[in-house]
Amino acid sequence: MSNELSSAANEPLAKGPANYTPLSPMSFLRRSAQVYPDKTAIIHGNRRESYADFFARSRRLASALAGQGIGKGDTVAVMAPNIPEMLECHFGIPVLGAILNAINIRLDAATVAFILEHGGAKVFIADRQYAPIVRDALEQMANPPIVIDINDPQAKGGGVIGDLEYETFIAAGDPEHPWQGPADEWESIALNYTSGTTGNPKGVVYHHRGAYLNAIGNAMTFGVNAESRYLWTLPMFHCNGWTYTWGVTAVGGTHVCLRDVDPALIFPMIAEHGVTHMCGAPVVLTALIHAPDSVKQRFEHKVEVATGGAAPPSAVIEQMEAMGFRVTHLYGMTECFGPSTVCAWQPKWGELPLDTRAAKMARQGVEYMTLEAQDIIDPDTMTPVPADGQTIGELMLRGNTVMKGYLKNPSATDEAFRGGWLHTGDLAVKHPDGYIEIKDRAKDIIISGGENISSLEIEEVLYKHPDIMEAAVVAAPHERWGETPCAFVTPIAEVGDLTAEKVIAYCRDNLAHFKCPTRIVFGPLPKTSTGKVQKFALRDTARGTS
Ligand code: ADP
Repeated sequence: MSNELSSAANEPLAKGPANYTPLSPMSFLRRSAQVYPDKTAIIHGNRRESYADFFARSRRLASALAGQGIGKGDTVAVMAPNIPEMLECHFGIPVLGAILNAINIRLDAATVAFILEHGGAKVFIADRQYAPIVRDALEQMANPPIVIDINDPQAKGGGVIGDLEYETFIAAGDPEHPWQGPADEWESIALNYTSGTTGNPKGVVYHHRGAYLNAIGNAMTFGVNAESRYLWTLPMFHCNGWTYTWGVTAVGGTHVCLRDVDPALIFPMIAEHGVTHMCGAPVVLTALIHAPDSVKQRFEHKVEVATGGAAPPSAVIEQMEAMGFRVTHLYGMTECFGPSTVCAWQPKWGELPLDTRAAKMARQGVEYMTLEAQDIIDPDTMTPVPADGQTIGELMLRGNTVMKGYLKNPSATDEAFRGGWLHTGDLAVKHPDGYIEIKDRAKDIIISGGENISSLEIEEVLYKHPDIMEAAVVAAPHERWGETPCAFVTPIAEVGDLTAEKVIAYCRDNLAHFKCPTRIVFGPLPKTSTGKVQKFALRDTARGTS
């Protein structure tokens, strides 16, 4: 691809007073294209995009969209895996003042139709692999948006969807289209729907200011810099890739694209591209740990892995470290632009044995430097709980990396912001060192005979069993105790003789007896599209089998 960087790239993002420009990630791409025009910004298969190309293509996209009438406040939806076009959309759409609505690629047609209608998308950019779902979704809509297909050679199956094709569409755009930030940093940049496990998905609205800050906070927290090669094992549709779409671009690092999270692709790609950083839910780590030996590789360099989105059992951290990765544990939610909380490493932990160290690292930790505050608070009295590692309260957050609110849902927004904090719905304790530890989502806690039982505590023990690959614990109804823990267990493939009795006996050796599961169900665990175990589905099964 030609180097299309123009002199206009040297212009500041917005013209105004010497000491104020509204914060926006749009300035990251302009700067990186200016500083590193020839450097590889994006790798995808054999394709390479330099920072100059990345910038020019994003400007072409902006220009072509403007030609379709897209401007300030309009929503443009995108359904694409981790490919260069998705990165271009993270810049070429918001630079117009439009709002990027990245849609989860694993959703069903009805939910996609709901999101397109609710978010008011005027244009829908979709990868051809998802043609069947996308066509079905569009048929369900009264006023479907304009559709632009992405025709990626790595796509498997699918077909033509709309009348326009991305490459042709942007080719007609101007590579010198003006590059401007928002007039106000509080303007919307993105719309991300929560998974909706508790009803219709809610549309979380992000502002430019928060996206800018969290991208910087993520890059600094995870040590991403211009030398970094960031492998896209985390979906870019999930909280805009936890804002690493903007963060890796900010530092001028290299994005290494990946359509499918498959260990057989990941290990060789780490070796081939010298990958330094990657992120993923614990389920991604588990997949790497249990990959066949024929696929696994060791690397001469340390690969940094940030995990979050669900609690990583300490056994998973331990096994990743043993494979030569360094793990950083992050916590966050869609409402706070992805990660807000990090288990910040303390030098003295280096002297601890691996298991004790992993247990410390399995805690969720302390607030990001870009989040103003977090605390564990009693939601009834709104007073903080003591830092005793025992008293359970709700994790609450506040600061500049908290969403604007839920789209067209003021009552849910007011409820989430009650008392001047973002209520996360996660129950946690605060340790004397100030580090927080999540015990459960409020709706997942098991109440047995009036005692709270943390499902994560039982899972933590189950993951340490040498024959268990994955485990999830939910409440099952119980005549006498009200609820009792029911464990769903996936044994390691080659283990044939794991029985419910053996698992229960093991739990009784390692847990207080009232916390032990009374029922064990073997089999694969149903996961959400972001790799979280679908506890609501397991609860249904647990209820059915009681
Ligand atoms: P959804 O609510 O749709 O699953 P989110 O990505 O917003 O999508 O999920 C946020 C939730 O994920 C948090 O409220 C918390 O319950 C869980 N979570 C995220 N990171 C962690 C972590 N490190 N440890 C435990 N739970 C986590």
